[in-house]
Amino acid sequence: MSAEGASSERFREPKTFCEEEELVEKAVPSSTKYKNKWALSVFGEWQLARTIKVPVLDPGGFFKDYDLHKVATLSTGIEEMDALSLNYWLSKFVMEVAKKTGERYPAKTIYGMVCGGGEKCHLSYNNVYCVVYRFTLFRQALDTEIKDATREGLHVKNKKEEKESVTEEEEELFWNLNLLGMSTAKSLLNTVYFYNGKLFGLRGGEHRSLVLTNFEVGSNFVKFEENSCKTFHGGLTDLKYIPKVVKHICHPLGETHERCLVEMYKLYIGLVQTIGKDCNAFYFRPSKSKLRFEKAPVGINKLNDILPEMCKAAGLKRKTSHCLCVTCASSLFNAGVEEKLIRERTGHRSDSLFKYEKPSKEKITEVSSVLGPSRSATEVKISEEKDLSCLTSSDAQDVVSAGPLNSCSFANCSVKIKVQYLQ
Ligand SMILES: [Zn+2]
Repeated sequence: MSAEGASSERFREPKTFCEEEELVEKAVPSSTKYKNKWALSVFGEWQLARTIKVPVLDPGGFFKDYDLHKVATLSTGIEEMDALSLNYWLSKFVMEVAKKTGERYPAKTIYGMVCGGGEKCHLSYNNVYCVVYRFTLFRQALDTEIKDATREGLHVKNKKEEKESVTEEEEELFWNLNLLGMSTAKSLLNTVYFYNGKLFGLRGGEHRSLVLTNFEVGSNFVKFEENSCKTFHGGLTDLKYIPKVVKHICHPLGETHERCLVEMYKLYIGLVQTIGKDCNAFYFRPSKSKLRFEKAPVGINKLNDILPEMCKAAGLKRKTSHCLCVTCASSLFNAGVEEKLIRERTGHRSDSLFKYEKPSKEKITEVSSVLGPSRSATEVKISEEKDLSCLTSSDAQDVVSAGPLNSCSFANCSVKIKVQYLQ
């Protein structure tokens, strides 16, 4: 007896070519697609612009013992190059690539173009990266380039402006000026947006992908359940990751109070419920005259303008949507909340969380007093304060070498410490 076709009900229908293509297309986040396209076009422009299209033997160079005769010419499309050719040309590319203005790219950008691993490699045509990165020569070329760029101080020059959190005083001011609250449709929209960032740690771009079903409002809580956010695409690398669920408890059961977020979320969701049903959005355009919303989602640019506009109206320093996520992390951090719990709120999985944890002066003082020598014995005068909170380990090295204790020398077991105060 043949078992053929016997369990056909168990398996799914084979996918057509078009369906397969669509699935692959959908699996890549749009920002990655954009960067891939960009990296490929930069590589293409470089291919065209480079006058020497054939490999040249450079006696002292990385490729002095390389099978140069096997390397394809630069006119070959990147997707047709074999690993040997890619190794050669990508090495040249990282050492020659520059911005339209002729300036060098920061090391991180170059690294992102050719490396980064997996989907983060923006030149990963047919997964060439997986092959190429194993080549020592390419790694050496990239390493040299990055070290050189770092020496030029590019990493410092290109450091993004620091994202500051929104202080309690600023938040209070927003309420007092009715920029937050439920007096108008606009202020209600601001409120829901502001607290989505602060309570649930949502980043700028994540707001646009929210839908009404992400939220549940109970009698005393607002619950947010993630579907697909920046850190969660639901792909292979996310299998171990459980989507974020955050329950914000606003007040004890049965109590009422001013500025109640449960009341405001309830009002907002109630007002947009019917228009939001067949729209893939959460934020809708506020009516100017009435406490109503139009059946038109607020676009990403308008959403990103909400906080900067509130700051402007309140006469405060400009803050961007990302500051709300920072506010979420740093408020919890300063309140002494365990890191694990902060991670749960913000959805950060890596050490990138530390960037957002801006310690307050009190916290820094507290930590210092734990580690420093006893106060009674030494009188320390601090002349300059440095905020080390946002430094990465590589930055920390710079700080160590630039710090006041610049060099020490040890001789004949008697220790001489040479202290230089650099001003
Ligand atoms: Zn409440």
